[in-house]
Amino acid sequence: MTRDYTRDYWETVLSGLELEGRHFIDGAYRASSSGETFTRIRPMDGKPGAQLARGNAADIDAAVAAARAAFESGVWRKKEPLEKKRIMLKWAELIRTHGEELAMLETLDVGKPVMASLTVDVRLCADGIQFYGEMIDKIYDEIAPTGPNARALVRKVPLGVIGAITPWNYPMIIDAWKLGPAIAAGNSVVLKPAEQSSLSAIRLAELGFEAGLPAGVLNVVTGYGEETGKPLALHMDVDMIAFTGSTEVGKLIMGYAAQSNVKRVALELGGKSPLVVFEDADLDAAASAVAWGCFYNSGETCHASTRLIVQRSVQETLIAKIEAVTRSDIALKHPLDPAAQIGALIEEEHMNKVLSMIAAGEKEGARRVFGAERVLSETGGYYVSPGVFVDMTNDMSLARQEIFGPVLAAIPFDAEEEALRIANDTIYGLAGAVFTRDMDRAHRFSEALHAGTVWINTYDMSNFATPFGGFKQSGFGRDRSVHAIDKYCDYKTIWQQFG
Ligand code: NAD
Repeated sequence: MTRDYTRDYWETVLSGLELEGRHFIDGAYRASSSGETFTRIRPMDGKPGAQLARGNAADIDAAVAAARAAFESGVWRKKEPLEKKRIMLKWAELIRTHGEELAMLETLDVGKPVMASLTVDVRLCADGIQFYGEMIDKIYDEIAPTGPNARALVRKVPLGVIGAITPWNYPMIIDAWKLGPAIAAGNSVVLKPAEQSSLSAIRLAELGFEAGLPAGVLNVVTGYGEETGKPLALHMDVDMIAFTGSTEVGKLIMGYAAQSNVKRVALELGGKSPLVVFEDADLDAAASAVAWGCFYNSGETCHASTRLIVQRSVQETLIAKIEAVTRSDIALKHPLDPAAQIGALIEEEHMNKVLSMIAAGEKEGARRVFGAERVLSETGGYYVSPGVFVDMTNDMSLARQEIFGPVLAAIPFDAEEEALRIANDTIYGLAGAVFTRDMDRAHRFSEALHAGTVWINTYDMSNFATPFGGFKQSGFGRDRSVHAIDKYCDYKTIWQQFG
């Protein structure tokens, strides 16, 4: 950070913004073919925000055609690896230099604190593009073992046109998780951001174009899921859909692939991640991990630690520590306030859904210890305070359903086997954690926990070198790491016979 950020400073950045809400297709902005738009309501204050193009199947057709033409021409895929790398690194740099603007766009759409948008979302987006840019001139093909009169090349080739459909909770980061490896592998992309969070995607595409991505390599079509995401996933000329979103829509995406051209599908879906605390754990560290793991981004995190499975003997002490950390460290404030640690929920409808899930949980017998209520309503925005429920069993709705709000369900256990059974008793398998000082148990438990990522004595630590994704109904396919590139490629054998 180079300056002393204040609320006034961010208000000035906001008033200087010009919001671009059109599609970005073939290197240019385009209105929807129907001329229709829709208004995004700002979660921070409930006021009208950007006007966005309301995409439709014809807009998707145009974007897919541009992507296909760019791919077939080889204007990107056949470029020298070093040149492609330079362009992607320049793109990452442009994201950094336009960081404040991108952070504000993300905050306007999503309602998260602008300082978090700047220091987490923008940073990780740029780092993601850079990571895959740097890989471009380091990927080798193979020569397979054959007899002396043959040479068999095993080439890793791009798939063609990738449809990326992304959610609203970490828009820029998840866009980078898809765009980085897909474009580095030589594909063209049509990105359909969530209708709640299109602004950063549009700007990312424009910055990519400015960095040197040829027209048609990255296209963005904004609009509703049914009207744009569905035709993209059903499109006969799209080779793969890389999807992040709910399990419900993920299942539809698989169906669309089957109904159309058997395109490939990679799914990053929902979660209900367990964080298991044994009585021998460092309870201060566990309390902090639970609070940040569950409440960061107002609980709108796919791998949020929403199920605390705690040994009965330390439940009361741990809950008291979680309350203390939440009250002292996790400041819920207006998103332009630099002191805010968490901000608004994504929209009024979602806030009402979270509140009704809380009410249903209480009817089933969950006992509220603190929080989990609407606050800052005078702002006109959609804020719910972090809250904890106890007296829970794992069959209660607050323990089973993905709430996507700042709500923690605490479930007590007595023995290790019971903790493991409760932790794995979920349709999801995205992430989980175990807190204990017994390293044998930590090893045993982390191996037995059925989740794509398991943390020991910490939560939500990661970097680009580690794959991220789920088991069970949390999906399949992995984002991040060098392995993510494989999803966007396939092997092609070229066999040459001599003599
Ligand atoms: P969502 O499933 O409602 O929407 C995701 C995307 O799908 C959006 O772009 C939406 O417009 C589009 N969509 C909706 N209906 C569609 C349809 N019929 N056909 C094609 N596209 C359609 O999810 P959301 O509410 O935006 O995001 C929250 C969900 O995302 C949560 O379940 C969360 O766990 C999940 N998520 C998962 C990860 C992960 O990495 N596993 C990361 C972030 C979010």
